[in-house]
Amino acid sequence: MFCPEESHVNAPLLVAALEEACRRIGVSLTAHAGEVEIVDPHRLSGSGVLLRGGNGAEWRGDRAVLCAGAWTCRFAETIGLPIPIHPIRGQICSYDVPFGDTRHMVFSSQAYWVGKKNGTLVCGASEDVAGFDASVTERGIERLLRWGPRLFPFLQGRQPVRRWAGLRPATLDGRPLIGRLPHRDDILIAAGHYRNGILLSPVTAQLVGDLLEGSAGAGLLAPFAPDRFALRQ
Ligand SMILES: Cc1cc2nc3c(=O)[nH]c(=O)nc-3n(C[C@H](O)[C@H](O)[C@H](O)COP(=O)(O)OP(=O)(O)OC[C@H]3O[C@@H](n4cnc5c(N)ncnc54)[C@H](O)[C@@H]3O)c2cc1C
Repeated sequence: MFCPEESHVNAPLLVAALEEACRRIGVSLTAHAGEVEIVDPHRLSGSGVLLRGGNGAEWRGDRAVLCAGAWTCRFAETIGLPIPIHPIRGQICSYDVPFGDTRHMVFSSQAYWVGKKNGTLVCGASEDVAGFDASVTERGIERLLRWGPRLFPFLQGRQPVRRWAGLRPATLDGRPLIGRLPHRDDILIAAGHYRNGILLSPVTAQLVGDLLEGSAGAGLLAPFAPDRFALRQ
């Protein structure tokens, strides 16, 4: 199926642009803070949230948004709510291919290929269960290498120049968790976007912004309620 309007972005550049946009409007960003934890949420309930980084830095705010990807599940005990988000590793690779040599994104049952403006042909991606291990394995990349030349004969005999892996935050029903906690409105969750976290980042940011300003429609967010798994137990 040919979808002429289908398009793609360069995810690292998108994140760099987001960081720059945040700085321009005065958002305070802290890098290398280590593992951030919520400090004694019950004691502070009603008076804001205290966060502490692994480096000892502390931040106090009226509200906090938990958006720690696959690691968001680690906050379950602290906030008193099951967060059944689990990591699914994705392995991916890229070849040096001049921009324009491949004009379309190509999807097969085994992989996809996308030519980027920076002269790389990106080929992704595996889906494997490896806990929080984000390393690249021969087995994970092998299927991508095998399928490349079947769709792009010029890849025959070529090795990718870059291989990398990440952990996708998967949920039990395939939908992300976006919303306030049922038992305290000073903590929100925005996590569990699995394979679509880049694609869904603008709408997620809009929804979380609306929630923080109190203007989000409850009905719209019902399918993504963070407590929907607790209700099933
Ligand atoms: C190979 C691969 C290909 C993909 N392709 C696409 C695609 O084509 N389109 C698409 O839309 N999506 C794609 N995705 C999925 C997308 O990357 C994810 O959905 C997205 O990154 C989720 O964003 P997030 O911010 O929720 O989590 P993450 O990107 O995982 O970010 C969470 C961050 O929080 C940090 N963190 C965790 N715990 C703590 C803590 N306690 N304190 C401080 N920091 C913490 C982590 O280190 C991490 O940096 C792909 C993923 C992979 C692996």
